Amino acid sequence: MKTWIILCGLASFALAHAADKIEVVKPTVLKPADVLKPIDPTERVQICGKTSCRTIMINDLMRQIERERSGGGDIIGNGGGLAEQNFTYALSQLPEFISETLNEGFVKGVDVTNLNKIYAVAKSESAKADKLVFLSGKNNPGIFSAANDPEIRLAKTGLTSEAPIFVNIDLLYSRTEDGTEILPMPVMIASLVHELGHQAGFTDHAYLDFLGARVRRMIEADFNRAARKLNGNLKIEMVSINLGSFSMPKLSLSIGDAFIPYEKPLYSVLRCRDGGLPRAARLSNQHWERAAEFGSVWITPFRAWASLTCVNKSGVSETEDRDLILDLRIDTSEELPMVEIVQLAIEN
Ligand SMILES: [Zn+2]
Repeated sequence: MKTWIILCGLASFALAHAADKIEVVKPTVLKPADVLKPIDPTERVQICGKTSCRTIMINDLMRQIERERSGGGDIIGNGGGLAEQNFTYALSQLPEFISETLNEGFVKGVDVTNLNKIYAVAKSESAKADKLVFLSGKNNPGIFSAANDPEIRLAKTGLTSEAPIFVNIDLLYSRTEDGTEILPMPVMIASLVHELGHQAGFTDHAYLDFLGARVRRMIEADFNRAARKLNGNLKIEMVSINLGSFSMPKLSLSIGDAFIPYEKPLYSVLRCRDGGLPRAARLSNQHWERAAEFGSVWITPFRAWASLTCVNKSGVSETEDRDLILDLRIDTSEELPMVEIVQLAIEN
């Protein structure tokens, strides 16, 4: 198998983000795949887990991942940071994000056909273990840069769906006055559309940036972040994403270095007044109410309005406006805070 590893996009954003300033987007020069710098599969990459690093040939890495997947294992074990967990979550939700983009008409004509091809790859690849491999660009000089191109890239992959997607961990975090910020999830989503586009056989980076930007626009159309700080330093952030008119919202919590998806518990309480399942739901007015502190334990109330689309007995759709109640118990006595749901319900 001929493995081409393609250096990829969103570089202008990634650079701007890393440097914390807006860069002028330079005109993209379209290059056919055969003049892109391929990476020799015999090239070695350094992969770091929580406590140690190792160096491995890309070819061997791909074989190991394949072997371990059949046994359900996780050989890489390097996706533990908050941004990496966000990236992994974004990948797991990508098929739905792409299909919403298609359903809501964010692309037209031939772009529909092409985005459908990327959807097919996303569907088969999004749940695979070790699909994302996080590498430091600094510790792997040359991997995320190309000859004749001064830009440092966010990610790269090959032109087949067997290839992992290498993500440049150096661009995932940036220091701000407020602490450390991670790359926004909509940017990760656009980047994944781009990379999986290569795996679907597309070689034009600019075109894949365009398709990625359409999916990002769908996500950003109703993307909400509610953030606050507990005891000075510990940041908690609830992210909710409303999708199309026939969909359920996404809901996830970032706390310290941990990422917790809440779709499962949320969907278990989103019910119409007659007890039936809603056809769709949207969240709005998301906010944290004042937390109560009991030593190292906090009770943090998250609130939102939930608009449910319910179908009555005559088959007519009606909107039911309810209140979402989500109280979390956060124990900050250990280095890794423990989070538990103490109350989850819809009221009124
Ligand atoms: Zn690319």
